[in-house]
Amino acid sequence: MKRYLRQLPAVHELQKDLRFEQLKTVNNVTTARLTMFLKREVESLRAELLIGQQELEGVALDFSTRLFKSTEAHLKQWQKNRLARVINGTGTVLHTNLGRSRLSKAAVAHVAEAAASYSNLEYRLSEGQRGSRHDIMEELLIEATGAEAAMVVNNNAAAVFLILSALAKEREVIVSRGQLVEIGGSFRVSSIMEESGAHLVEVGTTNKTHLADYEKAIREETAIIMKVHTSNFKVIGFTETVATPQLVELTNQNQPLIFYEDLGSGALYDYKKHGIGDEPLVQQVIESGVDLVSFSGDKLLGGPQAGLIAGKKKWIDYLKKHQLARVLRVDKMTLAALEETLKSYLAGPDNINELPTVRDIIRKAEDISLQAQAFISELQSSSTKYISELQESTSQIGGGTMPGVEIPTYIAAVRHSDLSAEQLSHRLRQATPAIVTRIQEQQVCVDFRTIDSSEMVDLLAGFVDCE
Ligand SMILES: *Cc1c(COP(=O)(O)O)cnc(C)c1O
Repeated sequence: MKRYLRQLPAVHELQKDLRFEQLKTVNNVTTARLTMFLKREVESLRAELLIGQQELEGVALDFSTRLFKSTEAHLKQWQKNRLARVINGTGTVLHTNLGRSRLSKAAVAHVAEAAASYSNLEYRLSEGQRGSRHDIMEELLIEATGAEAAMVVNNNAAAVFLILSALAKEREVIVSRGQLVEIGGSFRVSSIMEESGAHLVEVGTTNKTHLADYEKAIREETAIIMKVHTSNFKVIGFTETVATPQLVELTNQNQPLIFYEDLGSGALYDYKKHGIGDEPLVQQVIESGVDLVSFSGDKLLGGPQAGLIAGKKKWIDYLKKHQLARVLRVDKMTLAALEETLKSYLAGPDNINELPTVRDIIRKAEDISLQAQAFISELQSSSTKYISELQESTSQIGGGTMPGVEIPTYIAAVRHSDLSAEQLSHRLRQATPAIVTRIQEQQVCVDFRTIDSSEMVDLLAGFVDCE
């Protein structure tokens, strides 16, 4: 082994090698970075030699070639984007792990413009004076929701935190026990309440809460009655919750109590029309007279990550002035994306297909089937390693919305002649762009609900490369 170790080239020798300059130019890296990568390779090869891991017998000991090769491979890996595009073959439209909503083309263009240019983000052009970023989106939000006033923060968790901190610190907030939800493991109503300094008063039981339970809990210390949308689970059987209008009435009888509804997903489009879920519309919740409502920008709304707060002007104005509103404020790119997203809603139902999230959720199974069939026949003619067939299945909405809702879809169920479903799906995840699939009954399943026609070439290439 010593003999081999002595033949291991030193980094300064490798730097003089022609291939060093070549690698530098081709990969557009600095001398310092390339040297650092080479050093790592030399050290790891030395370690392997020391523990005798390398099969050296009969191998021409061209350590330099070996080192340059592995350095280049690692360099390429390093240069790949860390936040990378993924083809979502799961059919789950609001996949939180895959970034939830895709933005509309108009939203993407507006984001690019806002990012590349100066803008009137906090500047009133008519007066040539400082303005507020909170005012920029308010008009459109008012129009879309029917509220008196509205504002935008970083996400819905931030909206909940802001409302509780600003309006209920050191005071009490009444919530039904059946609505103390946890969303995605990192958002818990009870924990966020504790962080905000508000005191949680639980009423009712897990399955039933009556109006009288709320009534009895109201005291001098009560600041808010809060209703939380049970976004990601369903209680079925012997259940009862109090409807929003009743809670609004109770609040109005106990002024200056505030009624706040955390809607979670916040649909502006009526999915029920298509027989999908029973998500309340933001417009209806506002119409029933709530003081405040908050919801996500990137769930059923189909926009950027944001938390939208709408409701009575008195409270919104107060929230806008709170220190936390500054902490939780959104970037110009978020506002740009949100503006175009809202405009698609305001342009009327004929334009709703501009929004990928809405379009994918209401997409017809027959349309998905055609796309799946096209993929299956192309895969069959491109590779002999695969057997694939069209199967009926269901897609979920995801993002902790519409629990239990399964919408009919079609999938391509694929088997590989030599690889297990796990092995194939692992390889597909390493492709560029990565392809994420579902595994069902030892088959790799691609649900075309979430795949655009523009992604078909990359999808096919990904499979063919995994042969
Ligand atoms: C999703 C959700 C949240 C958190 O919203 P984010 O925009 O992900 O921060 C809060 N409350 C409810 C009820 C939700 O469904």
